Amino acid sequence: MSDIRIELYSDTKTKPSAGMREAMVSAEVGDEQTGDDPTTNALCDRTAELLGKEAAVFLPSGTMGNQIALAVHCRPGDEVIAHQLSHIIGFESGGPGAISGVMIRSVEGKGGIFDAASAEAAIRPQRRHAPVTKLIAVEQTHNGGGGTVWPLATLQQVAQVAWAHGLAVHMDGARLFNAAVAAGVSAREFAATCDTVWIDLSKGLGCPVGAVLAGSSDFIHEAWRWKQRLGGAMRQSGVIAAAGLYALDNNVERLAEDHRNARLFADLIADIPGVAVDPDGVETNIIFFDVAGTGLTATEISKRLEAQGVRISLYDDRLMRALTHLDVDEAGVREGAEVLRSVILAG
Ligand SMILES: *Cc1c(COP(=O)(O)O)cnc(C)c1O
Repeated sequence: MSDIRIELYSDTKTKPSAGMREAMVSAEVGDEQTGDDPTTNALCDRTAELLGKEAAVFLPSGTMGNQIALAVHCRPGDEVIAHQLSHIIGFESGGPGAISGVMIRSVEGKGGIFDAASAEAAIRPQRRHAPVTKLIAVEQTHNGGGGTVWPLATLQQVAQVAWAHGLAVHMDGARLFNAAVAAGVSAREFAATCDTVWIDLSKGLGCPVGAVLAGSSDFIHEAWRWKQRLGGAMRQSGVIAAAGLYALDNNVERLAEDHRNARLFADLIADIPGVAVDPDGVETNIIFFDVAGTGLTATEISKRLEAQGVRISLYDDRLMRALTHLDVDEAGVREGAEVLRSVILAG
């Protein structure tokens, strides 16, 4: 494999910075499982406060956050409403069926966003032969939808419908801070529209590992049981929690730079013959573009890009997905776009 100079494959590819590594080295630690890791406790308290929730729990991954939320909110046979392109449906190895035994009723909507009317229409009537609808799950920003930001008002309307029907709302906040920075709405205001929410530390925030799930004290009490059951309870996790605290101090506001770079990348590739992209649709750090018109498959383009040291991910045979993050600066984004142009023009 060749050396990748410009990594636009995902914001998960970020590596801990020197400052973050120093914070990790000097972290005070204890046994997380018995509540004795001070750094992990500080991260949980700080996240709960940031999100306006009573409590929080540190997890190895966001996927575990989604799976625990489904398990706590639902019983086997219950139904969850989620967008058709959501991460819990397509990218969690069937966890909802395998772990919680829930069914998912998918709904549609542009960019991964659905409205209150679609949510309400998907709630089952209370009949003996119908599954019981328990939860509405939203993703902020929506990954498969192209990094789109759920408007605060839409989230509020969906929550109103959910709560009026006695359902809970869960937010997959893998990129909640991207949404907050892009929309100028605080993470706390967004989180007020859901009962439970997690943030990922290992995406644009630049940490090596970790996610934090927040909700009511009762919810977190039950979430801990699932964390233990799934093997997610840790020991001296302060070493990684310290990275999270460092990221909350240093890597949130700068997400605006990633958003500017994403928009720049879309603008730069928009006139490459055969490439279809909507620069105005780039709201945060994710750019989807269609290469069907180039006469090359996405797989072929990605191979040629990698040979030139540029990596961009494939969504399917015609759709490619680039993500900007703190390890690619403006010059890198410009060069990435130039390399893409040259491999496509080479035919
Ligand atoms: C990455 C991602 C997840 C999973 O998070 P991990 O920490 O990688 O397990 C869940 N939802 C969305 C929208 C994501 O982008």
